[in-house]
Amino acid sequence: MVLPILAAVALLAGCEIPEGRSPGEPLRVVTTTGMITDVVERVGGDRIQLHGLMGPGIDPHLYRASAGDVRRLDSADIIFYNGLNLEASLGRVLEEMRVRTETVPVAEALPRELLLEDRDVAGAFDPHVWHDVALWLRVVEIVAQALEGADPEGREYFRANATHLMEEMKELDLWIRTEVARIPEERRILVTAHDAFGYFGRAYGFRVEGLQGITTLTEAGAGDVQRVARLVEDHGLPSIFIESSRPRRNVEAVRAAVRARGVGVEIGGVLYSDALGDRKSAAGDYLGFMRENVRTIVEALKEPPTVNGTPGRPWT
Ligand SMILES: [Zn+2]
Repeated sequence: MVLPILAAVALLAGCEIPEGRSPGEPLRVVTTTGMITDVVERVGGDRIQLHGLMGPGIDPHLYRASAGDVRRLDSADIIFYNGLNLEASLGRVLEEMRVRTETVPVAEALPRELLLEDRDVAGAFDPHVWHDVALWLRVVEIVAQALEGADPEGREYFRANATHLMEEMKELDLWIRTEVARIPEERRILVTAHDAFGYFGRAYGFRVEGLQGITTLTEAGAGDVQRVARLVEDHGLPSIFIESSRPRRNVEAVRAAVRARGVGVEIGGVLYSDALGDRKSAAGDYLGFMRENVRTIVEALKEPPTVNGTPGRPWT
């Protein structure tokens, strides 16, 4: 290997190489969403020094980089992000980083034929791939390969961690299928604040209706509220859902519109859509996040709507 002259001189003089990683130092890794951070943490373990930018409840569509974030991104050896325009407001910063740092947009690395198209924007894809466990399992492999490339000595370690995580994810995928089977087919409809659950719906057999589109950059209109209210009434849905990283007002507007039609409907609970829960909570890691969502969905949809505890309609 030919070292750049400056680095070679620095090595001869016993000094540190001014840029880049010294041998034996952990890889400096920066990630965006909690779902990515969790996978990278599980695979990279103590061979990496990890910083996740987005904490619990943060909306990745709207997240903007602080000066501190830019510094961290700037000094990273590898950056993992979702891509497919999920981190819309970080787009330019990530684009700039691409020129000089290894950046891995994990969702963009998935085979195109497995992606869902964005219903509202021609040529764009739905970025919320983590809601399909089998698809997110492929991201584990993408992360492992990138870490191996940057730190070949860690190959076996990364491989073992990735294999272990993928086994857990396969079990989770099977568990989800068993759980959702408890909901009668006609009520497998998710009404949520924005279109985050398209991959969940495709993987586990739900129709999905978001009040806002794929991004949260545009607001839902009154027409959306009425359209979704009609759907809730037509299908006799007992519950609709709010999202942890979105304001609840749009979903509450749907509940009010449904009730104005004389039909009972409840808020079925909070779904984690685009961010993990608090680190110490049950939804603080990816596996727990998925489990919590499925528990909430099954609990809220398995029984028909009730009025004062008695099954039936209309709302009084
Ligand atoms: Zn989203």
